[in-house]
This record gives sequence, structure tokens and C-alpha cells, in this order.
Amino acid sequence: MTLAVGAAAAAFPAIDDRHRDQRNYPHGVAFMDGQYLPMSEAKISVLDWGFLHSDATYDTVHVWDGRFFRLDLHLDRFFKGMEKLRMKLPYSREEIETILSTCVSLSGHQSAYVEMICTRGGSPTFSRDPRQAENRFIAFAVPFGSVANKEQLERGLHIAISDTVRISPKSIDPEIKNYHWLDLVKGLFDAYDAGAETALIVDTNDNIAEGPGFNVFTVKNGVLKTPGYSVLPGITRRTVFDLCNELKLPASAGDVSREELKAADEIFITSTAGGVMPVTRVDEAVIGNGKVGPVTLQIKDLYWTKHTDPAWSTQISYA
Ligand SMILES: *Cc1c(COP(=O)(O)O)cnc(C)c1O
Repeated sequence: MTLAVGAAAAAFPAIDDRHRDQRNYPHGVAFMDGQYLPMSEAKISVLDWGFLHSDATYDTVHVWDGRFFRLDLHLDRFFKGMEKLRMKLPYSREEIETILSTCVSLSGHQSAYVEMICTRGGSPTFSRDPRQAENRFIAFAVPFGSVANKEQLERGLHIAISDTVRISPKSIDPEIKNYHWLDLVKGLFDAYDAGAETALIVDTNDNIAEGPGFNVFTVKNGVLKTPGYSVLPGITRRTVFDLCNELKLPASAGDVSREELKAADEIFITSTAGGVMPVTRVDEAVIGNGKVGPVTLQIKDLYWTKHTDPAWSTQISYA
């Protein structure tokens, strides 16, 4: 299938106030079924198995100051997920790259949260056989969003550890970025009930796993550690490993117990939605001296510096 991205983009209507329904939709641009649309018009059938069965994979990349950050790694993960789920799209990797940057340029956002999604779709004959489904591709660009707000980034987040167990990797391969979030959402409600701002949930061995859309790192005596089991291998997590390599800081993945987490000198969480974000309280425990630690700050600063490095980022052309 050939995609006339240029022609579709040219036909895209100017986003006026009619389309910009601020009450329900952030300002942004989506792509689906071969068309670019205002966010408020990007809608799927309720019969799509992505919705009915969470039968979907996705990825989120961000744009900062007009540049994608590590887009190649996000595309690698997205294509690997689709392959594992036996999904196929009529678009090549290059076409998807073009669609993503067109969503961003049409939206006009210099800093954006960009999502690409492949759902199982559905069968034209309503067959229950997933092999007969026509998979659906959706992409969109909306304003950049963060797990932590400005105040939380300055003083560090307050996290609660929930007793909720992350769905077993034997059930759902965590390397496939997915929408199986009921455990994470339950963890979030547990955290709010405990007066905290966000949550970490545990793996099947009661070690720390991850939070709603983020990984976690501890720093103890200058050594970094992050859970290795029952987590999505985040691109930001991977980026922290790359930065540690550059900074000559030792970092590894392995089991992190609740006690080990609370005894850390520093803690931070990582996500495309916000980058490297400090944590200064876990349940009732104050982490370190209660202030954002020096290793966290060093990694956070270098993380943002890399956003202008051509080896780590891709310029978007805004037509
Ligand atoms: C996306 C996600 C993360 C963070 O991954 P990044 O690639 O760094 O954004 C962590 N855990 C889960 C469950 C996620 O969906």
C-alpha cells in the first residue's frame, strides 16, 4: 500500500475552535484509517478488540524543542511488540516515521507526547479468530505530559508501595508495551488512599516491579539498581543505563526488595512522560535527607542535555 502522506496532510483542515474541543480533547492531531484528524475526531469502533480485549500494543515517544528523542528505539520496541502479537500493518517503518512527524508538525507542538498504536482491529465477518482480524494503526500527537508536575519535580515525589501484584510475565510478556493496566490503576488508588502521589506495585515474589507507566531506580553508595523482572524495559530506563555508562556510574538490573528501596540514598522514576523524576518519600520513609539527591540531579541534567544531541534525537520539519 502506498501512502500519500503529503496529499493527506495538504487536505487536512485548519484546526479551528470548532475542532478544538478543549473540554474533552487536548489540542492535537491524530492519524487513522489513512487520514489526519483533529484529536476530537479520532474515534474507533467499540467492537475493536483493542478496546474489547486490550488486544493491542503501543509506544510513546516524546518531542522536545522540535526533536524526537530516541525515536529509533521506540520504533524498534513497537515493531517487536507487533511481531510477538502476530499483528501486521500496511505501513513500513519509514511510513510510520513520516506519519508521526506529520502529526507533530500539523499539531504545531514543539514539545509533544506522541503515541503509535496497533490494535487487533476486528474481522469483517465478525469471526472470533484473531488471525482473520484486520489490524488497525492509530497515531497522535498531543501536548507533552509528565508523571510529575513542576513542584513534585523540585521536591521529589511521595510514592506508596501497593500490595497489588503486577500481572505475571508468564501471562503477559512485559516486553510488549500494553494496556493491561488494571493492576497499575488499582495500585494508584491504593496510593491515593494512603495519601501518596503515585504508586509502585510488586512482582510475584513481592519485590518492587514498576509503577503506572514508569520504571524505578535506587542509588545506594553511588551504585544504581533497577528491577529486572516483571517490568516493561523502558526506553528511559535504557537511557539511564547509557548515561551511567558515560558518567562511569555502576548500574544494574536485579531484584529490589521493599526494604532495599526504602533504605536507598536516592530514588528516581523514569518515563517518556517526564524523563528522570526524583522520589523523596516511600510510604512513611523519608529517602536520604529528604531532598533530591546529587546523582539523580546529575543524571536528570545529562538526560535533558542529550535532547539536542543529533545522535539521540531527530529534528522535525514544521511545514
Ligand atoms: C511505557 C511504560 C514504562 C516506561 O517506559 P518508557 O519507554 O521509559 O516510557 C514503564 N512501565 C510501563 C508499564 C509502561 O507502559
